[in-house]
Parts: sequence; C-alpha cells; structure tokens
Amino acid sequence: GWARIRGRLREEVGEVEYRTWLRQMTLAGVEGEDAVILLPTRFLRDWVNSHYGDRLRVLWQAEYPEVRRVEIRVSATPPPEAVLAGAEERAGVDGRGLAEPLAPRAAEPRMAPEPRSDWVVPLEARFTFDTFVVGKPNEFAHACARRVSEKPASPGFNPLFLYGGVGLGKTHLMHATAWAIRAHDPQRTVAYMSAEKFMYRFIAALRSQNTMEFKETLRAVDVLMIDDLQFLIGKDNTQEEFFHTFNALVDQGKQIIVSSDKSPSDLAGIEDRLRTRLGCGMVADIHATTYELRLSILQAKAATAQVVVPPKVLELLANKITTNVRELEGALNRLVAHANLFGRPITIDSAHEVLHDVLRAHEKRVSIEEIQKKVAEHYNIRLTDMSSARRARNVARPRQVAMYLAKQLTQRSLPEIGRRFGNRDHTTVMHAVSRIAELMEADAGFAEDVALLRKMLET
Ligand code: ADP
Ligand code: MG
Repeated sequence: GWARIRGRLREEVGEVEYRTWLRQMTLAGVEGEDAVILLPTRFLRDWVNSHYGDRLRVLWQAEYPEVRRVEIRVSATPPPEAVLAGAEERAGVDGRGLAEPLAPRAAEPRMAPEPRSDWVVPLEARFTFDTFVVGKPNEFAHACARRVSEKPASPGFNPLFLYGGVGLGKTHLMHATAWAIRAHDPQRTVAYMSAEKFMYRFIAALRSQNTMEFKETLRAVDVLMIDDLQFLIGKDNTQEEFFHTFNALVDQGKQIIVSSDKSPSDLAGIEDRLRTRLGCGMVADIHATTYELRLSILQAKAATAQVVVPPKVLELLANKITTNVRELEGALNRLVAHANLFGRPITIDSAHEVLHDVLRAHEKRVSIEEIQKKVAEHYNIRLTDMSSARRARNVARPRQVAMYLAKQLTQRSLPEIGRRFGNRDHTTVMHAVSRIAELMEADAGFAEDVALLRKMLET
C-alpha cells in the first residue's frame, strides 16, 4: 500500500532528497479517484506537487489502478513527528480512514473503468487561468483559449492552434482551457493528451487489433486536445489516423485544440491536407517573453512563496533568464528552496551565489570582435588599429580597454586574447588589464566610460 509507494519513491529520489521534501507526507485517504496526501506547509505542498507530483501519481496507479490523481493538501495541524510513521502505515495497509476501500491490483478484480476515463490524462492542478499571467506576448493566445473555454466549437475557433517556443505556456493554456470547460459543464468530456501519447495509444490499438475501440473512444469526446503535435512529424500512419479523428470530430461540431512549436505552415513533415485543416480555424502564437512579462510572472510566483523575495532579485532573474518561463520558475524555486532549507533570507548576494551556474549560462556571449568594434567606434579609431603595431597613446589606450573588456566579458585565456590583438604576448594582455584597472581606480570619469562600454556590450 502507501508504505510501498513511499518506499519506491524513497529509492528513486535517494535518502537526502526524501528527507528534505517527502518525509513529512501523510496519507489522508482516497476520495473517489483522488489519493489525498497531506503536508504541513504550503511551501512543501507546492514543492512536492511540482517536483514529485507526476511520480507520485504513477506510483499510485501502479499500486491502485483506480486512483487517477494525487492531490496534495496542507494539513491543518502538523502531526507530531514521533507518531508519524506508525499512523500512516496503518492507514495505508488496512485502509482505515480511507473514504473508499482500495483494491490492490493482484488481490481483487479491478472495477471496470468507464471506457473513456483511460483517455483522460490527468490535468496539472496549477495550470489554470488564475495562475496564468497575461502580457503582450501571450494575450492573443490567452484570449483565444478563454473564448474557446466559454464557447467550445464556435465558428472561427475550431480548431484552435496554439504555437510557440518551449516553456512559453502552451501546455499551461491547454490545461487551463480544459479545467474551465469542465468547471462550466462537468458533463463535457475533455480529452487531453500529447501527440506522443496519441501515437502510443494508436500503436497499442493496432497491436491488440482494437482500432475500432480506439476510434470510438476518441470520437466520443466533446473536446480533444493534442499537445506538441510536432511529435507526429514523419510519423505518417499516426498522422493519417489523427487526420480522420480530426475530421470526424469537427464534422460533429466538437472542439479541437492543438499545440505545436511551429505554425501550421512551418510544420514540414506533416502532410499537406492535415496542415491545411489545422490552419483553418484560429491560429494563435505565443511570442517570446518580454522583460515586463517575466517580471510579472515572477512577482505572481513570489507572492505565493513563503519567503520574501526582494524586488531587486526578481529584476535580476527577469533580466538574465530570458529563454523560457520554465527556467525562470526553476531559478526562483531554487532560491526559495535554498532559503527554506538554510533558514536564510534571499538577497542579491545569495541569489548570485545560489544561481551562479544558471546566471552564467544565460550571460550574453560577447565576442572579441564585437568588443574591438565597439571600442574602436567609441574612441573613434580604426578597427585595424586593434591589431596594429602602432603605439601612439590615442590608439594604445583604447586597445588596452578592449583587452581589458575581452578579459572581463569572455572566457578566453590571456594568450588567446593576445593572439586576437595582432599576435601580442599574454604578458601584454596582463599588463593592459592591470593598467586599465588602475586607471579606473584613479579616474572616475574614465571608469564611467569603461562601464558604459561594458553595458553596451552586455545588453
Ligand atoms: P510549453 O508547453 O509551451 O513548453 P508550459 O505550458 O509547460 O510550456 O510552461 C512552462 C512553465 O512555465 C509552466 O510551469 C507554466 O506554468 C509556466 N508558465 C508559462 N507561461 C506562464 C504564464 N504566462 N504565467 C504563469 N506561468 C507560466
Ligand atoms: Mg508543453
């Protein structure tokens, strides 16, 4: 029972992680298709939910197939440590305190599932419209998703095709739409799955010669959502099957929502007729995030954390981690976890320390050529003088500044930098670096000048 599920998880994640995050889990019981697990704080709940939620669900289902979701709640009062282990083991083993008796797979025949429930992939609890932060880059996609959730299959919005880069919120928006449709009308069946899952189901059906059931089940849903359609590129048989499913559903006035990392017209490797149909409803793209959106997302996330995250730290993250929202969240989670673990406040310094690898990976790569070009422009000298032998002060000094910046802003070694400045020796570079540092100490105006150059190169 529960003891075994915990044991498995403990083996999978290792002792340290288990003790840090998972030790305090207790089983509240099973309510319908939900296994309910308690943790003493909101922070722990959110952390366990986002990091181990999927694993917990899989482990539960292996043990009790009728459990479809694992819900993690905050317990009203944290139970005293000492009685923890014993109490929960009993609850798991003999089912005391459970809302519904559990039937272990081997012991009793499992209840026949409703035919379609197999198809409904569990939705992520935190992916709702409430938690989706809207900004310029995603407002159109968000508005379309909202609209479809209010009036599925309305003309012009079927199919809804959402596309955008990794980690920009496509899956979040799809789940949010599914939650909203279900909340509005619980009778509606919403099937959400990745294109990959669609393919595996289809292959499994072919193997067991059960394609009729596959078709019927899929065609009985009211809303079909297929995530990451690009997975079907080059998978011609699955595409063909999806094409038929698609047509059957649209003909019946059912809503289809598809996501992908590319627009329909850019989906090379997807059959033309399918691409055409995919593009004939509403196509909405999610653009790369802006600084403003990143900051709003961080602010929203920080507001639910149980530690204070200074605005300067949020600005730092929004500035440096520009690729996708998932990485942004990951960085914030790490800071919060670190603060919780060591009971220390988050500061700019601790952020730099904890995230130095992440921040470094996101540093803008500046090339030596760029540095030479910018510095030459700035001091109004010729680019060729960066490598020339001329030693006049008005040329030599800018060259030293460029060397200094090359040392500060790139990962290049001193000999390498020397080579790129007209085959100079590494001691020349070393001398330039310390000379410029000295001058910056001595002359505030000069220091400002160099700082300005540095800023221009870094942004
Ligand atoms: P995609 O499916 O496009 O790769 P996801 O939907 O999985 O991206 O989003 C990655 C992570 O970023 C998720 O945790 C999601 O909640 C979060 N996220 C993305 N966009 C937003 C947003 N606008 N507001 C809040 N969270 C977001
Ligand atoms: Mg996704």
